Amino acid sequence: METLTGLRGLDRIIVPIRLTSQSKIVFQCYPGVPCFKLCCSDLFLPLTPYDIIRIRDKLKLSTDEFLLLYTEPFMLPRSGLPIVRVKMFDNEEKTCPFLNESGCSIYEVRPLACRYYPLGLGIFRNREEKRNEDVYYLVKEGFCQGLDSGNEMTVEEYRISQGIPENEEPIKEWAEIIMKKESLGPVEVPEKSLELFFMVSSNPERFRTFILESKFLEIFEVSEKELEEIKKDDLKLLQFGFRWLKTVLFGENLVKKKKEAPSVKRIKPF
Ligand code: SF4
Ligand code: SF4
Repeated sequence: METLTGLRGLDRIIVPIRLTSQSKIVFQCYPGVPCFKLCCSDLFLPLTPYDIIRIRDKLKLSTDEFLLLYTEPFMLPRSGLPIVRVKMFDNEEKTCPFLNESGCSIYEVRPLACRYYPLGLGIFRNREEKRNEDVYYLVKEGFCQGLDSGNEMTVEEYRISQGIPENEEPIKEWAEIIMKKESLGPVEVPEKSLELFFMVSSNPERFRTFILESKFLEIFEVSEKELEEIKKDDLKLLQFGFRWLKTVLFGENLVKKKKEAPSVKRIKPF
């Protein structure tokens, strides 16, 4: 099970209890809590493609500027797929660069992983029923005093209170790609496939340029309407990108090839 929202390295304690959306947890976090901000340093903090768009826009940066200033590449351990994570400051505490005196400076657009904490999310493949199931687990860290205090709530109530569903929905297909790759086991992945995945996952501007300035439109069918949307809407671009990745990486026919497409070196699926 690839954990998409695991925050910490070796010092995290994951309570091995599988939770469902209706499981009850007891937790509260607020600026006056004695451990305030202790959870915002020394993290493996992955960014989803939607996190990148939202934080970049909040900081009024280009994608390249944002990636250069605040992130570093990171290989998801089980799937072997490259994504980006937040580059912690090079100080003793390895503080998150978005942390300031009063807390998270990008709170309204904080990453999905931060919204989840102290929960973690994994996606479990139910082979018998041939469907994916979201599973949750608790990350219990000694310093977090918010656990076991406050009101009892279900996992789903917690997710809603943190704005998780609306931040998760746009990257559902992306998570499916990661999970599908993981389910294939340790197969060798062609370099080109990794590059394509990384481009769509981290840099919408580059992906848009790739669509508009390479032979892409000679090869793949993209309707006029979709092309107009892709040109001006990053979210539409991402959704198209995930369908295209499923097409080129797994042979799913979600973005059709033109009949008269020029012959190009075939991208080897995973
Ligand atoms: S992004 Fe915000 S909430 Fe997340 S670790 Fe950094 S400072 Fe904390
Ligand atoms: S350590 Fe726990 S309670 Fe304290 S600020 Fe972080 S999440 Fe909130």
